[in-house]
Amino acid sequence: MSAPPSHEADAPSGRLGSTQLTSERLDALGQLTEVAGEITRGYGTDSLVESLALVERWMLEAGMTVTRDSVGSLVGRIGPADAPTLLLGSHVDSVRNAGRFDGPLGVLAPLAAIERARSSLEEGAIGIALIAFADEEGLRYRSSYLASRAFVGLFEPAELDITDDDGVPLAEAIRAAGGDPAATSSPSMSFGSVAGYVEVHIEQGPVLQAEDLPVGVVTAIAGQSRGFVDFIGSAGHAGNTPHHLRRDALLAAAEFTLAVDDAMQQTPGLVATVGRIENAPNVGNVIPGKTTVSYDVRHQEDDVRERALDALRARAREIVDRRGIDLDWRHLQDHRAVPMSARWRRTLLEAVENADIRPFELPSGAGHDAVSLAHVTDVGMLFCRCRDGVSHHPDEFVEYDDIAAVIDVLEQLVLKAGLDDAR
Ligand SMILES: [Zn+2]
Repeated sequence: MSAPPSHEADAPSGRLGSTQLTSERLDALGQLTEVAGEITRGYGTDSLVESLALVERWMLEAGMTVTRDSVGSLVGRIGPADAPTLLLGSHVDSVRNAGRFDGPLGVLAPLAAIERARSSLEEGAIGIALIAFADEEGLRYRSSYLASRAFVGLFEPAELDITDDDGVPLAEAIRAAGGDPAATSSPSMSFGSVAGYVEVHIEQGPVLQAEDLPVGVVTAIAGQSRGFVDFIGSAGHAGNTPHHLRRDALLAAAEFTLAVDDAMQQTPGLVATVGRIENAPNVGNVIPGKTTVSYDVRHQEDDVRERALDALRARAREIVDRRGIDLDWRHLQDHRAVPMSARWRRTLLEAVENADIRPFELPSGAGHDAVSLAHVTDVGMLFCRCRDGVSHHPDEFVEYDDIAAVIDVLEQLVLKAGLDDAR
């Protein structure tokens, strides 16, 4: 039998109490959905509006002053009004049939840390602004980083006319979310006195679990290149075409797919994937005439990614030349890497150490709101372990003890960030 928790540990300002409260809040947000039995919260929907209202109430209870920006994102502030401000936050919208942690953890764990450090923060040398972005996943309008782009002034006025599947223009959803379409063309605050932006997010990968660590500090959000390769040979009868007369597109695509795996094995930190394949005519007794594969190549250093991509392209050319077939390399998109600032990497590593956790760094293979914020300030990110790396799925799960660890690190961070700026 374990002893009942002490009175102090039960209070929201204690470690047990704040972890319990955060867990309950995650559950409460997880109840808000457009589709019963799922978590599906698109931008401007009733469930999103309710989520923002709930988070706003919690921010107010934590002693923060709360404002809404042009797209309805919440900005809760605590600390001296004229002091430099550290921004913390993440998003409260979700993908279709999501988990409870992707986004909300990055809002509610900082909220708990602020509650715990409240008295120090109210008299501290730095202000903290906690942001709950109203849309990141882009479920309803197929946008990316909608709210954080609007926050930093990167929203394009033409986007107001984009419609959802029911023909509802984005401008209308912005009004529903508590925003003001006319204000979207300017940034939500002046960033002159902002000290940085730090985001907590679930890892969405298995590295921390393999390292047996609750948290890790992000080095960079990896750059990404993606596109398709068409291998164009000739369809032919499977029985009547001897080996030396074949122009088999699928064999070339298979060789290329293995080359992608080779590139990944030979280049530390590179992740490269062929995730999609289309084969024509895709019939059992016909030699494939045309095979298309996708590629997705990511690395935290842009020059490494670009060299890997050039090498893959040369390899594809070599394969088709040898096999006497044709190639169409259809490059779709490049996103540059977003490095985390040295200052926030260092401060986060110190905060992790102060929370008695082994400091560890890893890159992020996925994009986050920090990508937008990097346009206006120094950014840092802290990843939290999630079970088996599963995300964007109802099975997405973060252990209770890991929530506690994240709050511990953030408490160290907000206290330390104030000291740094006071020097
Ligand atoms: Zn997310």
